[in-house]
Amino acid sequence: MSYLIGYRCTRCGLLHDPVVPQRTCRSCGGPLLAVYDIEAVRNRVVRDVFRRRGCTMWRYLELLPVSDERYVVSLGEGYTPLLRARRLGESLGLRNLLVKDEGRNPTGSFKDRPISVTVSALRELGVRSVAMPTSGNAGASLAAYGVLAGLEVHVAMPKDTPRPIYAEVSVRGVDVVLVEGLISDAGRVVADWASRYGWFDVSTMRVPYRAEGTKTMAYEVVEQLGWRAPDVVVFPTGGGEGVVGMWKGFRELLELGWVDRLPRMVVAQSEGCKPLVEAFRRGADRVEPYGGCSTVAVGIRVPKPFADTEILRAVRESGGTAVAVGENEILTSMREVASREGIFACPEGAAAFAATRRLVEEGLVDRDETVVVFNTGSGLKYVDLVLQSNPARR
Ligand SMILES: *Cc1c(COP(=O)(O)O)cnc(C)c1O
Ligand SMILES: [Zn+2]
Repeated sequence: MSYLIGYRCTRCGLLHDPVVPQRTCRSCGGPLLAVYDIEAVRNRVVRDVFRRRGCTMWRYLELLPVSDERYVVSLGEGYTPLLRARRLGESLGLRNLLVKDEGRNPTGSFKDRPISVTVSALRELGVRSVAMPTSGNAGASLAAYGVLAGLEVHVAMPKDTPRPIYAEVSVRGVDVVLVEGLISDAGRVVADWASRYGWFDVSTMRVPYRAEGTKTMAYEVVEQLGWRAPDVVVFPTGGGEGVVGMWKGFRELLELGWVDRLPRMVVAQSEGCKPLVEAFRRGADRVEPYGGCSTVAVGIRVPKPFADTEILRAVRESGGTAVAVGENEILTSMREVASREGIFACPEGAAAFAATRRLVEEGLVDRDETVVVFNTGSGLKYVDLVLQSNPARR
């Protein structure tokens, strides 16, 4: 059973009802996050029970927002391996470098977590039609979980989304529209659909369910480390549900007494689209919309994340930082990770590795610290990019 109490606005604190479908705060429009009866969980749930359950993220059901397990829509998401990257660590000068490989998820990215939770929660609450703007990977997940749940699915994505990702959506037979521009332009299309046809808009951080899925990455890392938090987490960040969800997860784990400290959260972006890095440097708590966003790492090509305040708060509260890396560093890093560790990382994950190198060079991490870098998706989604940037074939 779930210990969910409701959904609280991160900006004004208003508590929202868990038994009706929620989006953003009805008073101030801010993002909502799920609240649980942590004291009851602490008293009644022993953390060792999880080990005896199935190897998906749903093993943490008590701390997820679905009350009846029969509504869970699962394709086996989560419980991805936490790999020790010895050779890459040596090259970076880190003794304890670990890779959480989210490329192993059912549709090849971590987005399966937030979408599995969202589709399950909304199915339980009786929602029939969902719509979403996406840079691609969330669309692939929504198509997969949506059809499995019997929902009507509508997706809007940029025209230049990598073709394998477009194929992942279209093969599932859902409604997909290609939009000129970026995810922000797709967002306007979906807002129009939502108001015109009443389809439930499940945009990043605009429903409280998605961050509950990403928070399971924090739970898994901690469980896989033997109930210990890492020192540093590096995550390629666009809309921020990864970082905001994980930071929430780590804080819940601390409150539960299941870890005794918190990691530093590091946001990795591309030089071609770095609104969060700039806001962090300015000491601001909102981003300026980033003009002319352009990067091969399309999953982090977000000019103005809705939850900017919450992302920046997670970075600052945790003592972390925000790092931008060049496009060439991303491509080089993809090859380096593949050739040293055998992992075909996506360009977003490669950006996180490149950012990690920067952290070491700038003395922001110690060589003995435990650093978890997220490869957020499979490189197979970006084969065209690799082939285009291939040194002459022999
Ligand atoms: C969406 C996505 C990201 C960015 O995650 P956010 O939670 O939006 O910050 C990074 N990598 C990949 C592969 C993605 O699909
Ligand atoms: Zn509010």
